[in-house]
Amino acid sequence: MALIVKKFGGSSVATTEKIMGVAKRVLAEKEPGDRIVMVVSAMGDTTDDLIKLAEGVTKDPYQYTREMDMLLTTGEQVSIALLAMAFKSLGQPAISLTGALAGMRTDSVHTKGRIAGIEPERVLQELKNGNIVVVAGFQGADKLGDPVTLGRGGSDTSAVALAGALKADTCEIYTDVDGIYSADPRLVPGARKMKEITYTEMLEMARLGAGVMQPRSVEVGQAYGIPIHVRSTFTTKPGTIIREDYTMEEKDFEIRGVAHDAKVAKIAVLGIPNTPGIAHEIFSALAKANIDVDMIVQSIRNIEKNVTDMVFTVASGDLSQAKRVVDEVAAKLNAVAVLIEEDVAKVSIVGAGMLGSPGIAARMFGALAKANINIDIISTSEISISCLIKGAQLNEAVNSIHNEFFPQQA
Ligand code: ADP
Ligand code: ASP
Ligand code: MG
Repeated sequence: MALIVKKFGGSSVATTEKIMGVAKRVLAEKEPGDRIVMVVSAMGDTTDDLIKLAEGVTKDPYQYTREMDMLLTTGEQVSIALLAMAFKSLGQPAISLTGALAGMRTDSVHTKGRIAGIEPERVLQELKNGNIVVVAGFQGADKLGDPVTLGRGGSDTSAVALAGALKADTCEIYTDVDGIYSADPRLVPGARKMKEITYTEMLEMARLGAGVMQPRSVEVGQAYGIPIHVRSTFTTKPGTIIREDYTMEEKDFEIRGVAHDAKVAKIAVLGIPNTPGIAHEIFSALAKANIDVDMIVQSIRNIEKNVTDMVFTVASGDLSQAKRVVDEVAAKLNAVAVLIEEDVAKVSIVGAGMLGSPGIAARMFGALAKANINIDIISTSEISISCLIKGAQLNEAVNSIHNEFFPQQA
């Protein structure tokens, strides 16, 4: 009599055939008495297509964040209705619920919302009525009832948060890979599949670009203590369990994986006064616009004139808005110029095992040097090291670093 939350990503429900396949598989694996909540993403590339549609109306649709949410939430609404119909056509009672109907309450930060609370009564009632409950991922509603989306990949967070609120026995994330790998298996053919990974390491991998899980979903999983099983929609092989600690022999490693992020942009504000409060001025303006800043470097441009340069990175999706904000501050500060570089990418290594192993950084930089790849910016955390490089060299960088730490066995 388990309560199970199963999340299916966009590629898993990309066509009506796939939706039917998902329904059949869920029913075939359902034990008598199981209560099942499905969380689904929009079909295939629907979200990207909706963004392109908006770009047909305005060059920068993300300045109208509420309207973007009104648009983007339609994607998930299509897939939940179709999946509920698929269950019904197979004789299984089912009901679709939007995020709002499922009680997903959010703040009002449109397109980057966070879950403020979940009122799961309706979901529990529908389960009691004998339904499989099909919930739209990626969305909730704020105090006004307006739709709010949770950021790209947000269905993962919907699923894990719902599993927490429902005190589910398990949370399964079904996707187009059969688990978490030591690097994106699309980029690194020799990447190794993990049986387990800790929340802490997975969160860092996700934060640094491993798009298989939205970072926030891992945080929520850790907060609720819910193990997350990441597995394939298309095979029945066991996947990877994300949990608090390792239970098996896999503990012995120097680094856990290589993550990459191609969706990065660099902004350089050149020739600003080297005086107290300048960094605060720039970054508080960005924070007010809900723009996360990642790597930051401040360097002296001219000691005599007490002038400095501020260089930092933001997510590509935030670039146009960030540029608007920074241009305004730069004008106020009499900056010499604001330069934007879009052909950049970030490659990172992650692993709790690197704490106290100074040689790890040197090996990472050595692997990049061997591939003749220049490092622009370096940043570190306790369990990761990241390098900003040229975007065109990303593939080679990820592979050479992976090969250094996970050499191919003959
Ligand atoms: P879904 O639509 O199911 O949410 P996503 O595209 O968001 O699927 O996430 C799955 C993708 O994540 C995989 O196809 C893979 O290319 C990518 N990925 C990136 N890093 C990793 C990793 N370390 N392990 C597994 N997959 C990864
Ligand atoms: N459909 C949304 C996206 O493409 C949410 C998700 O797939 O998790 O980002
Ligand atoms: Mg995803």
